[in-house]
Amino acid sequence: MNLLISALEKTNFASAISKLLHLHTRSQITCLGCNSIVVTDETSTFLPLPLPKKSQTIKEILLEDFINDYCLEQPFDRLYHCHSCTNYTQAKQKSMISSPLLSVLIIQLKRFPFDDTSQKINTFVRYKLQYKNLISTNDVYQLCAVSSHRRSLAGGHYIAFAKNYQTKQ
Ligand SMILES: [Zn+2]
Repeated sequence: MNLLISALEKTNFASAISKLLHLHTRSQITCLGCNSIVVTDETSTFLPLPLPKKSQTIKEILLEDFINDYCLEQPFDRLYHCHSCTNYTQAKQKSMISSPLLSVLIIQLKRFPFDDTSQKINTFVRYKLQYKNLISTNDVYQLCAVSSHRRSLAGGHYIAFAKNYQTKQ
């Protein structure tokens, strides 16, 4: 998918691809030591959602809850190096999906944590074929395809399920 999008971005379709797929997000990190706030605007092709690890309390999650959680203020998952007070401190982070919303949304479920375990996160994600008000009021998204990775970080296969654009099945 990345290769295809990168290739299309080098063609005459670049501006159309940008309008369709370039998602604008804003992340805000607040240092809990000195309360300084750093805002970063980013553009990406995918909405990256880090999956929580499966536990006694988390067996499965709903995609809509997961997106809501992404936009909530959360503790920063590691020590934060604050450029204002120059300390490594605790921090909190908030992410926002900026307007205007895209008509095509590619969601990346991040199943590979960047820690020393290299264990894939197998938390089950339940999703619907159609969503209304997924990110804001008045948005409508229909699921077109799912690309899924089987097996482990060491090796495996990607498989895809997609809606047939002619039969709509
Ligand atoms: Zn600070």
